[in-house]
Amino acid sequence: MEEGGDIRSSSALSLIEMLGLIYEDFDIDNIEEKYFRLVDEIFPFDRIALFFIKHGKGVLQGKLARGFQGRAIEAVEIPLDGSHLLARLLTTGLPLRLDEKESGDGLPFPGLSNSAFIPIVKRKRPPCWQIKGCGHTDCPVYGKSWLRCWLVADAKCGACGGASPQERPCATCPVFRAFDFETVEGVLLVDNSLTGAPIREEVVTALSILSHAVAVAINNSKRFKKTFDSSIRDELTGLYNRRYFNERLLDEIERGKRYGEPVSLISCDIDFFKQVNDTFGHPVGDQVLVWLAGLFREGLRKSDVIARYGGEEFMFLLLSTPKEQAREAAEKIRQLVSASAMPHGGGAIRVTISCGVAALGPDGGSLENLIIRADNALYAAKAQGRNRVVAA
Ligand code: GH3
Ligand code: MG
Ligand code: MG
Repeated sequence: MEEGGDIRSSSALSLIEMLGLIYEDFDIDNIEEKYFRLVDEIFPFDRIALFFIKHGKGVLQGKLARGFQGRAIEAVEIPLDGSHLLARLLTTGLPLRLDEKESGDGLPFPGLSNSAFIPIVKRKRPPCWQIKGCGHTDCPVYGKSWLRCWLVADAKCGACGGASPQERPCATCPVFRAFDFETVEGVLLVDNSLTGAPIREEVVTALSILSHAVAVAINNSKRFKKTFDSSIRDELTGLYNRRYFNERLLDEIERGKRYGEPVSLISCDIDFFKQVNDTFGHPVGDQVLVWLAGLFREGLRKSDVIARYGGEEFMFLLLSTPKEQAREAAEKIRQLVSASAMPHGGGAIRVTISCGVAALGPDGGSLENLIIRADNALYAAKAQGRNRVVAA
């Protein structure tokens, strides 16, 4: 990419710096935003837009844009079905260049020309020259682990016969056979419709390589998040586990002391849960635990930390909440549970819970002491007849 407007000068350093920042980040929103800024800073396009695949909704949804007028980018939703021009790009993983004015059918914006759609795609497959076992040592892709034939204009692949990237039979090529939809994260649209400046093949290739790096970063962050989540959550209920809760409690006690904020703890245990297991069996007992976890999430605030602390024991950590307010929260949860029933085999299963509440004031106290006081209050609630809340 020489002088001539394809790329802004002195951007090589920022390119490397920005890629480093993208790789360091484990927050997908941040990665997407950094990528958008990176492209916007380095390439002098008239307009750019970034779309991400929402697998749940089955759409390609607008996320970030510069220069497009008329409608909010978040409102742009393109269905992931075969009828759209962009669907081709999603199934092949190949970039798509528009040189002529397109009819606008299936495109996110009307009247695009001199534009390119670049998929943000991670490929797990080995390089094309390895799969095909070709001996084209003069091909720009040959021997490179990071390049693929569909990314370069002058690939020497026998199957393509020197066709332009748009005309290549990639969809039927063995390199594409095991295409995995999940590896496509989104699409970048770069557009010069306003100035009419052509977008060269080399620029599309550079953007494809960048997009691949971003897809790898997004994929890594998804895997990291999955592993991290499973290490801090209880498998059955999805609530936080005891280890995470204790660590968090320690942190929040420290924070409470520093900022003079009270921290409250609710220890909670199901009443006569053994009877539920004895009557309906252990698997149904497990279903009750899952159902109760849902009630706890529903009845507590988003900022409250909810954990399955033991088999049928739960702990709630209420931040910036004094004891009396925590007692009210525990009472609300107790009432919610006793007023609810889990449907089961044409009937319903009802349980009640007992809760013990303890708090640390701004002058502090130890974690062990707080847990012991909450547990003692819980034992008192059990001793007083269950289905009640006792505050230490
Ligand atoms: P109370 O707390 O009111 O004194 O009576 P309880 O019957 O709930 O107390 P107890 O400690 O005697 O019994 C707790 C029961 O919880 C016994 C155990 O089988 C059951 N339990 C613990 N963990 C699990 C679990 O993961 N799944 C199921 N289904 N049951 C569990
Ligand atoms: Mg118990
Ligand atoms: Mg119990």
